[in-house]
Amino acid sequence: MTEKTNCLSVYLHIPFCRKKCSYCDFPSWANRESYMNAYTEKVIGEIESFPAGRADALYIGGGTPSVMPADLLERMIDSIERHFSFSAEAEKSIEMNPGTVCADMLDMLRNHGFNRISIGMQSGDNRLLRMLGRIHTWEDTVQSVRLVRKAGFDNLNLDLMIGLPGQHLSDVRDSLGKAIGLGVTHLSCYGLIVEEGTRLCTEIANGSLELPDTDEEREMYELCRITAEENGLKQYEISNFAKNGRKCRYNWNVWNRKEYAGFGCGAAGFLNEVRYENPRLLSDYLNGKGPVTNRISPEEARFESVMLGLRLTEGISEKDFADRHGMGFEEAFGEKMAKPIREGLLLYRNGILKLTRRGMDIQNRVLVDLM
Ligand code: SF4
Repeated sequence: MTEKTNCLSVYLHIPFCRKKCSYCDFPSWANRESYMNAYTEKVIGEIESFPAGRADALYIGGGTPSVMPADLLERMIDSIERHFSFSAEAEKSIEMNPGTVCADMLDMLRNHGFNRISIGMQSGDNRLLRMLGRIHTWEDTVQSVRLVRKAGFDNLNLDLMIGLPGQHLSDVRDSLGKAIGLGVTHLSCYGLIVEEGTRLCTEIANGSLELPDTDEEREMYELCRITAEENGLKQYEISNFAKNGRKCRYNWNVWNRKEYAGFGCGAAGFLNEVRYENPRLLSDYLNGKGPVTNRISPEEARFESVMLGLRLTEGISEKDFADRHGMGFEEAFGEKMAKPIREGLLLYRNGILKLTRRGMDIQNRVLVDLM
């Protein structure tokens, strides 16, 4: 087994859910419990055939990792821990959904050094949760957080969604108040993306549901930003807010274009300037179909650095950029930077390139200019 010297982040994807939510196009399936054993074996095989190395972050996402039987999940975690040596201060984070959180699994995770739990609350309004096809109520979120606290976890993220059909500013205010009232150390506030082929997309297309308009959605986002900051949750990324020292390290590494290894169906990885993605279909993954790989050219790498780094409120340091790519911003982007700077969307000052507040709202526009 070859020893990698770079310190990696590790991602494990669990593609099982109790029920498919109406807006979801992630690689995740309901009623596939009979595949969980085979999936565990396949993932362990994938981990074992990967070069061993050091890691400073582990993120188990889904799907709903907490629907996995604890013994199967533990076998995959054991395999990751045998294969990667984690630093003492490594972040080990897992996603859970309300209604699927149980004390036994939390104890197992504590024993493996997990120190961060992320719960998909999405909303504090049961009417909106039903509309989204979520399996849980707001009361289930409260109960899940109680269990998480009882198991000794103090680093807790809640995910919230904005821009939902039938959602008003007052609903967002209420959900933020409820989430903050649960003592979170981290909040993620995501705007709904209506994906083709989902039930929600059909319901919007046939007029049975109506999205809030762009101005309303912007107000919701602004409310999230202000409320989070007022409660000591500092914005550090377009959709993410954290108390001091509680940024999500796994995501932070990804946005800083550090290397990561992804295991499981639909999982993505980035190693030695190659991005790969495992098959998104469970059957393809279980049948041994390999990943799709894409070698990143130096020009693409420069654009990726900016695309990811501009998500961060602190922006990108020119020194880091030059260390990675052997040139500064002006050489890399030249005239392309002038337009968004002139329009007040991009700031380039004291060796830092970052989006302005207005630029954060329309990041994609700025990226098109820089492309
Ligand atoms: S719980 Fe998450 S992954 Fe599962 S169906 Fe709902 S949105 Fe998709």
